[in-house]
Amino acid sequence: MSPPLFAIGQDIWFASFHPHRSQRVVCEDCGGTKSLTVIVFDGTEYAIPCQGCASGYEAPTGYILVYEPTATAEGMKITGMRINQAGVEYEADSSSRSYTLSDQDCFATREEALARAQQKADVFAAEELGRMKQKFKQHRRWAWHVTYHRRQIKEHQRQLALHEQSLHYAQTRVQSEKEAA
Ligand SMILES: [Zn+2]
Repeated sequence: MSPPLFAIGQDIWFASFHPHRSQRVVCEDCGGTKSLTVIVFDGTEYAIPCQGCASGYEAPTGYILVYEPTATAEGMKITGMRINQAGVEYEADSSSRSYTLSDQDCFATREEALARAQQKADVFAAEELGRMKQKFKQHRRWAWHVTYHRRQIKEHQRQLALHEQSLHYAQTRVQSEKEAA
């Protein structure tokens, strides 16, 4: 294990990033139209609301929001340190609060800290993109809803016919009883 690079009281630069939720990405499923078309075997088309860009029960928006990280280097003063098998951790104060920092994120120059911060931000952005793609994929199954509703309609039509038949039968009986009297 390498010894600590910095001493208590020393000024350092901390590599970090802010995840801003700012970028709008057009929905990959509906292309911003908010709806999808499902065609079933007989050629009937159904327009269904896109779930790729809808969050929960809210209506689809046509786009999704992704976190766009910004790399930062923050100047801090080391106030303490902890050394264990995993490495060195520094306690540090900035103008607003105190932090515990991994030695991998602490640098003597702002440039080095920014380079590392950009690396961290890129990893975060890649993970964010992966999560987004996952969301699109998960919702590829909703064509199933069309099948479900068609099945429900068929079942209700069958029941309707059954009830109409029963009612018709009852009416015919009343009719024939009247005629017999
Ligand atoms: Zn969509």
